[in-house]
Amino acid sequence: MSGRTVLLVGASVAGVRAARALRAQGHAGRIVLAGAEPHLPYDKPPLSKQFLAGDWDTERLLLLTEQEARDLDIELRLGSRAVELDPTGHLVRFEDGAECGYDVCVVATGAAARPSPWQVDSGLHLVRSLADADALRSDLARGGHVVVIGAGFIGAETASTARALGCEVTVVDPSLAPMERVLGAELGKLFVSLHERHGVRTRVGRAVRSVTGAAGSLAVTLDDGEILRACTVVVGIGAVPNDDWLAGSGLRLADGVLCDEYGRAVGAEGVFAAGDVARWFHPGHQEHLRVEHWTNAVDQAATVAHTIVHPEEPRPYAPVEYVWSDQYDWKIQIVGRPATATQHTVIGMFDENARAVALFGDEAGRLTAAVTVNWPRVLLECRRLVAGGSTLDAAKRRVDALAHPPVPAPGAAS
Ligand SMILES: Cc1cc2nc3c(=O)[nH]c(=O)nc-3n(C[C@H](O)[C@H](O)[C@H](O)COP(=O)(O)OP(=O)(O)OC[C@H]3O[C@@H](n4cnc5c(N)ncnc54)[C@H](O)[C@@H]3O)c2cc1C
Repeated sequence: MSGRTVLLVGASVAGVRAARALRAQGHAGRIVLAGAEPHLPYDKPPLSKQFLAGDWDTERLLLLTEQEARDLDIELRLGSRAVELDPTGHLVRFEDGAECGYDVCVVATGAAARPSPWQVDSGLHLVRSLADADALRSDLARGGHVVVIGAGFIGAETASTARALGCEVTVVDPSLAPMERVLGAELGKLFVSLHERHGVRTRVGRAVRSVTGAAGSLAVTLDDGEILRACTVVVGIGAVPNDDWLAGSGLRLADGVLCDEYGRAVGAEGVFAAGDVARWFHPGHQEHLRVEHWTNAVDQAATVAHTIVHPEEPRPYAPVEYVWSDQYDWKIQIVGRPATATQHTVIGMFDENARAVALFGDEAGRLTAAVTVNWPRVLLECRRLVAGGSTLDAAKRRVDALAHPPVPAPGAAS
């Protein structure tokens, strides 16, 4: 494999981590990292948090500097949008007419914000790219009322940051418990009260009928006729995989690039996928999954790189899901898939100055997931327990012990 060319399409966390892992694992051939955006590869989680708040500058977002790329002998092709993959010719074609041959291609084109169904000339924002966050940051700096449509992770984090910047904020979501899909209904409702405690107005169970006007004087009309006047509107209604450029390539596309458990794309030799764009077969869950979380992109990229460098010993990718979110004073961390659980138990209080965990189990009493607030130590332990197949009862005892460590006897050595 040493003299072979690996072409990574998509220069964000999955592409960069795969490139780095290829070198770390001994790939000595050519590595080309192509990305549609003109910027050096940057990280996305801070775009709705520290970057949007103005606490971090662009430099701090970088995933790879030019110097690091030179040191690792990674060829950067920035501003190069791939428009076609030809698996017979082992070629990728770019928008500007250029081509790049490959022996192995890793599709790491991620996802895009689901487009807004409402169009206005200005003042309406999506939050996915650096350019998006930059534009929103300028509008938030003007203050005024911000309406956030969609209370999933991106909407909730944007609302939290806008509030911290002193904006008035209203969050609208058609679901009564917007995070229900991820957290289940009961815990989902706690997140609505989290916003309200921080002075955000909520309109849950309400849909948006139209958005009209322009920056500074927008009007968001709800399905019951209420009109919310806003200076800025943020639309956070999910993401869609960037797989349309692969139409006609022979790869199987099914809301993402369909892959086997090793990340090998179905339908073409020598093509892998990693990160938000990959829908791979999870051997643990026995189903195909597409996950839009940072840690998944990192871990999947490393696993795919391993399989490329060591094809004779491919590693199946079967992670315990993990995602974090920062909202107001809550650091929320989730392992496993809470929404698929049939029972749960809570330790601590999901309240102000919270430190709490909800443990989730299946019908057999097995621990399948956990959600913690401001309790990273317990989260780490839960991740280990989920991976190890712990029962819900054993996990509860373990977390209780961590919450109430035995008081040392007087005079005992500390
Ligand atoms: C605002 C925001 C906050 C987030 N916060 C969190 C968080 O707190 N916790 C968490 O776990 N996850 C978070 N995420 C999700 C996390 O950032 C993603 O899971 C991660 O970025 C996925 O990485 P990726 O490399 O697979 O795809 P992406 O980050 O989507 O990158 C794909 C790259 O491919 C490029 N590209 C697309 N099409 C083409 C093409 N045809 N040719 C060439 N290049 C192309 C794009 O320009 C992009 O740079 C957040 C995401 C956003 C947007």
